[in-house]
This record gives sequence, C-alpha cells and structure tokens, in this order.
Amino acid sequence: KDLFSDRSNSAGVNLHISAQRQPFGDELAKWQDHQWQAGPIINGQRLQSADPRLIHCPAKLEQTVGQVFDASAAIAHQAIAAAHTGFTQWHKVPVEQRAQTLEKLADLLEQNSGELIALCVREAGKTLQDSIDEVREAVDFCRYYALQGRQLCAKPQLMPGPTGESNLLSVEGRGVFACISPWNFPLAIFLGQVAAALVTGNTVIAKPAEQTSLIAGRTVELMLDAGVPDYAIQLLPGAGAVVGQLLSDDERVAGVCFTGSTATAKRINLSLAQRDGAIVPLIAETGGQNAMIVDSTALPEQIVKDAVHSAFASAGQRCSALRVLYVQDDIADRVIELLQGAMAELRVGYPGHYASDLGPVIDANAQHKLLAHIEHISEQGKLIYQTPLPKKIDGHFVPPSLIEINSIADLKEENFGPILHLVRYPAKDLAQVIDAINNTGFGLTLGIHSRNEGLAQSIASRVRVGNVYINRNQIGAMVGVQPFGGQGLSGTGPKAGGPHYLQRFVTERTVTNNL
Ligand code: GLU
Repeated sequence: KDLFSDRSNSAGVNLHISAQRQPFGDELAKWQDHQWQAGPIINGQRLQSADPRLIHCPAKLEQTVGQVFDASAAIAHQAIAAAHTGFTQWHKVPVEQRAQTLEKLADLLEQNSGELIALCVREAGKTLQDSIDEVREAVDFCRYYALQGRQLCAKPQLMPGPTGESNLLSVEGRGVFACISPWNFPLAIFLGQVAAALVTGNTVIAKPAEQTSLIAGRTVELMLDAGVPDYAIQLLPGAGAVVGQLLSDDERVAGVCFTGSTATAKRINLSLAQRDGAIVPLIAETGGQNAMIVDSTALPEQIVKDAVHSAFASAGQRCSALRVLYVQDDIADRVIELLQGAMAELRVGYPGHYASDLGPVIDANAQHKLLAHIEHISEQGKLIYQTPLPKKIDGHFVPPSLIEINSIADLKEENFGPILHLVRYPAKDLAQVIDAINNTGFGLTLGIHSRNEGLAQSIASRVRVGNVYINRNQIGAMVGVQPFGGQGLSGTGPKAGGPHYLQRFVTERTVTNNL
C-alpha cells in the first residue's frame, strides 16, 4: 500500500471571515499576559540557573513574554552525555513506535495551537496568519516525516544476488544529532529538524535560537507529553558561541542539522572537520539572494501581487523571500507605479492583530542593520517608496522599502527584512541578468513572471537555485508538495519536507549472508 495516498497537509484559515477569526482572537486574549519559562531539559529534568534572561515582545518592548535560563558549558556536556547514553536505548525502539510518537505530537500541537500561536506572536513578533501557518507546518512536518520514516526504516531491502546468498540493505540512526535552529521559524524548523532526526533513530540535542527559546521550551514539553522518552531529547537554550560551538567540537555528536547564516554553517563545517573522531554529515540550510525575473509579456497586476507578498510577508524574514525584482524596461514604470500603490496599502502593526500584514523584525540588532542598509543603498541607488509606519509604535519595526539599484551585484550580503530592490533590464541583457544572479553564489529561490512559456522554462533551467516558482509568489513552500532548500551558498540539501530529507540522518548497512 502507498503510505502517502491519504496524506494531506493541515487545513488553512481565512482570517477575513470573522467566524474563522474569532477563536484565534479569544486564544490570544487568553495568553496575552502569560509569562513562560524555559531552560535546559536534560533527561526530562528542567534546569534553572541564577540569572535568567528576560524575553521582550519585539512589537511591544515594554512587555515581557517570559524568562530563559541559558545552558552553561557544563550543562551542555551533561546533555551530550545523556544523548549519547540515550542512543543505546532509542536505537532499539522500532520505527513504528517512533513514527507514532511523532503523530501523537502532531495531535498535541493541534490541541495546544492557541498557546503556540500566542507564543509565535509575542516572542517572535510573527503575524497571526504567519503564526497559524507556523503551527500547521510543524504539524505537517511531524506527520510527513512519520510516514517517510516508516518507508525508509521499516524493512530491510532485499537486493538481487546469486542463488543461495541473500543481500539485505537496512538503515539505522547515526547516533547523537545536534539540531541548531533559527528564530524565523521557531516552531516549524525547530521541530522539522528534530522530528527528522528522531524518527530515523537518532537521539537529539536541540539548540534553539536565543531569541525564541520559550517556543522551543514549550515544544519540548509537548514532545515529552507525546511520549518521546526523556533520554531521546535534550534541550539546550543558550548562546551559539558557547553551546553551538561545544556541540560541533564534541566527537560524540554524529551529525549536525543547522538552519541559519552561511557564515555560521561554514564555521560548524570547519569545527566538524577539525575535531577528533568520525567524519560526520552537516545538513545546512542557509541564506539566499533571491531574484524574480519579469519579462514584458507578464501581467503587471499579477507581478505586483506576487512580488509584494514574496518580499514583505513575514517582514521579509524568510530565507526564501524576494530581494531583487528584475523588470524588463518596457513595463518597469507601470510595475513601479502599481508597486507603490500596493505598498501604500500594506498595514504594518501589532502582529497579533489579524489585519496587520507585517509585524516587527526580530530584534534591535536586525532593525539597525536593515535601517543602515536602506540608508546606504539608497545613496548608491534610489529610494522609490517606503510604507509609512504608524505613529505610535513601540517595537523593532522597519518600513517596507522599495529601492532601485543597478544590479544584484550591488548587494554585498543578504538583507533579512522588508526591503525590495528593483533592477530594470533591457530584453537583450537577459543573459547578463542570469549570470549576475548566478554569480552571487547563492541558490535558493527564483521567481519568474512571463506568459512566454518557452522563455520561462529557459530561464528556469539556467538559474542555479533549489526552488523555482513560475507565475506565482516564491515563498511558503508546502511540506511534501514543494520540497524546500537550496544549493551553493544557500545550503547543502537535502530538501526539507521532501522525500530524500531523512536519508542524510541515517547510516546504511548491507548484510550479505551465505549461510
Ligand atoms: N520554507 C520557507 C519558505 O518556503 C522558508 C524557510 C526559511 O526561511 O528558512 O518560505
């Protein structure tokens, strides 16, 4: 039987319909003053330390969301020892049981979605729509990887061989996996990594982003409630420079799964290469310098709708987000005019309000970097439009900005926020446009808008990226539908939410038997 024939992703919500919106409003109200607490969880024990770190809502700076006890180096060593010993047990648990535990976890995430959505809004500053989608994606990852785990690990595969001899190919977990996750998908990516490592038989040490440790802490509590044994999951909130470094240096760690910056991925790779012990895999999903190429056959209204969504949804804090819109010069003025109109309609505001299209960026550091980039690049190019921010707003907000530049080569790094750059190009320069995009070295997403199918296909085949989207927006890859991940500076693969993801978490064994 095809394990995937009945599979479906969780259903979406239309917040413009008041009956659908109402329950979320009630949940947000219920959790609006709640203070969460998170700290290391080692063998099921919740540890505390003397000086907790306070977490403030990035959209309301005076409001605290809870407190975090960061792990010290000594606690990180305890976690590694616990995960290492735990592997001897988890390894023996049949995949069916591991998969069922993930499915139970998916149910618990749904039952606790109100609290998790409130946490995503308050700790990560995600809009209500993004927070709802975040929980859905986490649920989908659990259920999808449960099925993939069954398919990959359930039965050894009989290989062809001479009569009298059997050849059986099987897979098993590698050991301890360190899962190091980002703040922009504090639940979905956090859990996607952990679920993949667990279902394939690895024990996990999860190191969440410092900015979103509360969400991670609550999620690990739900994992334990779902029946993940306490020896199989260890949680280590704390600084990357302390905890992350220690994990990549320790030879008991048998693999690292990382989502974050390209620079950090390279540092992890270097540590793994230089430490004693085995050669182990790094699964890295990093940044992008994503373009959309638009030719003059495309519909301006459709381009603008998709470009605005791709650049400004989630305040541009997705590695898939559109950064550079290449528009053929004959339609550029029209597209710019429509873009300004659409940007004027964007509502920037408190992320828990259903009508806010954009919330804040994650912290003061990100805000300052983005504002400095807008200033600097506007001197080189031309600031065309900025959506005004509401007057009374106390948070790390950055105005959605449209800036005309000469080439994607003018951008020295990824700008992880609501900034859309635009480049006009004459049709005869299309080959140079493609070269410039490829020359960034990144290879994550590409958008194409054209009604010339041959041209669209030709562009798609020449730009080296992991995800191409033709005549639609270029963010929000769906689990099991649009496997997601890039190449080059954008990551190692395999693609998250795709059929090959789990392979990298296992080791293979062939037994040839001539008994
Ligand atoms: N999977 C997300 C998307 O397709 C992006 C993940 C990320 O930003 O790391 O938009």
